[in-house]
Amino acid sequence: MAEQTLEQQIDELAELIVKSRRIVAFTGAGVSTESGIPDFRSPGGVWSRFDPNEFTYQQFLHTEEGRKRHWQLLKQMGEMMAVTEPNPAHDAIAELEKLGKLDCVITQNVDGMHQRAGNSEDRVIQLHGNITRVYCMSCDKRYPMDEILEWLRQGIEVPLCVECRGILKPEVIFFGEAMPVWETREAEQRARNCDLCIVVGSSLVVYPAAFMPMYALQSGAKLAIINQGATDMDGMAHVRIYGKGGEVLSQVMPRVREQLR
Ligand code: NAD
Repeated sequence: MAEQTLEQQIDELAELIVKSRRIVAFTGAGVSTESGIPDFRSPGGVWSRFDPNEFTYQQFLHTEEGRKRHWQLLKQMGEMMAVTEPNPAHDAIAELEKLGKLDCVITQNVDGMHQRAGNSEDRVIQLHGNITRVYCMSCDKRYPMDEILEWLRQGIEVPLCVECRGILKPEVIFFGEAMPVWETREAEQRARNCDLCIVVGSSLVVYPAAFMPMYALQSGAKLAIINQGATDMDGMAHVRIYGKGGEVLSQVMPRVREQLR
């Protein structure tokens, strides 16, 4: 069979969206790179500057050095996220909600960009947490990340709770940390119930998050993948588009609008 052109793939995805009623958008770090937030694994990504082996929950919990390294990375990511804006990929996913097509967004990202683009809070399932909030692991006092970033800018390397001197941790799931129970269950249920799952910007290698598109497929949903690099599920996708999420979806959405008019 002749390979489809990009135009044909874009038409096919638009058609799938128009026919679907319960879409799940599954997003990873790649959906935010066009906003200027690097992913982890691409060349120039976070892992080309930091060693992934140093960033485990166990290292954060048990060593002062581990907490120091985590806060160096969190400072970089937090500062970057504070000055970046949602991009056309986030906007397109928010538009799917306005059009009544979107069941939910299941995201691995911690940057809160989907909500900033206009998706309702209750339609965004954040599997790996949210970087904008920090809590004390001893007394549970909450802090906005902005306040902690200010402490870091003043030279504090490992912030501690002002009330009890407990360890402060962002509401982000670290590598090796248990997944949040409610979010994981809810995501699985929604994925199993959708009629189209659109993956945008995920290498689909971080589990259990990457099970979600698999659950959708197993339950009979169509699968579309928009990703620059290869993924393990490429061979299973009904539509597979190699490209940037924002660029591709900016071409898909006018066709969807036109057909829904
Ligand atoms: P990843 O780094 O493993 O993969 C990102 C994928 O996106 C790659 O396959 C890359 O080819 C692709 N990509 C990059 N830019 C793209 C674009 N503009 N359009 C389409 N595809 C693009 O990321 P992951 O699979 O999401 O997993 C890494 C973990 O790191 C996740 O848990 C994620 O939460 C976390 N993370 C989050 C952020 C964020 O919140 N913005 C940033 C970095 C890492």
